[in-house]
Amino acid sequence: AKGIHIEGLSKRYGERDTAVLALKNVNMQVAPGEVVGLIGPSGSGKSTLLKCLGAVIDPTAGRMVLGNEVIFDDEWKVRDLRALRRDKIGFVFQAPYLIPFLDVTDNVALLPMLAGAGNDDARKRALELLTALDVQHRAKAMPSQLSGGEQQRVAIARGLVNRPPVILADEPTAPLDSVRAMSVIRILNDMARRFETAVIVVTHDEKIIPTFKRIYHIRDGVTHEEAGEGRSFE
Ligand code: ADP
Ligand code: ADP
Repeated sequence: AKGIHIEGLSKRYGERDTAVLALKNVNMQVAPGEVVGLIGPSGSGKSTLLKCLGAVIDPTAGRMVLGNEVIFDDEWKVRDLRALRRDKIGFVFQAPYLIPFLDVTDNVALLPMLAGAGNDDARKRALELLTALDVQHRAKAMPSQLSGGEQQRVAIARGLVNRPPVILADEPTAPLDSVRAMSVIRILNDMARRFETAVIVVTHDEKIIPTFKRIYHIRDGVTHEEAGEGRSFE
């Protein structure tokens, strides 16, 4: 089974009378190549779900499978979280968080280098992604020389460069105007299809909500699935 499979996931913070049930029996499936939206009000459990999926915190109960790997199954959990985050999950955040003293190519090549690729090979893979995202002409630039839209595309290239089976995007379009926001969503859809990546986009952004074919709504730790319009990417 590829993609993302979550079954009966629960997360409790704290103990006894101060306990908060942040996730209650959450089920979610995202197929390879699919981009789904995750929408909910503040305090509904979005960050908790992303942190569980990103192996930043452990769930209290349930089962999570990313790619071909069971990463959490009730009491059992994966041991090498750092390797999991590096190899299985690409993160894209609201802010690009590029490393200011590395040029664009090395910002993207750093992850494959850390995963053990040689420098030439890592830079070649970085350039492939930068080309796919149409920022190859900025390959030698420093992050401070890029526009906001270019920085975000470089950040997406970095999220994809290790070909993770899963991308978690947290408000990736929040600071962008609607043309650039739509372009980021189009890129995530293209990349998802091309690399068979399962993508979850957490968002409040009204501009991009109509682009999802499927949306998970979360409220008080409970998710409901809804078919979206998906009109922009048919
Ligand atoms: P969202 O990202 O949708 O705003 P969160 O996942 O941050 O929601 O929070 C879900 C619930 O869990 C909220 O009631 C929040 O107060 C609680 N919560 C989040 N993090 C912690 C924590 N570290 N300790 C205790 N409660 C927490
Ligand atoms: P977008 O955000 O759509 O990529 P902008 O209108 O912000 O485009 O920028 C247009 C062009 O100007 C881009 O090619 C970008 O590289 C360049 N540019 C923007 N800001 C700077 C800067 N501070 N230094 C150098 N070039 C810049």
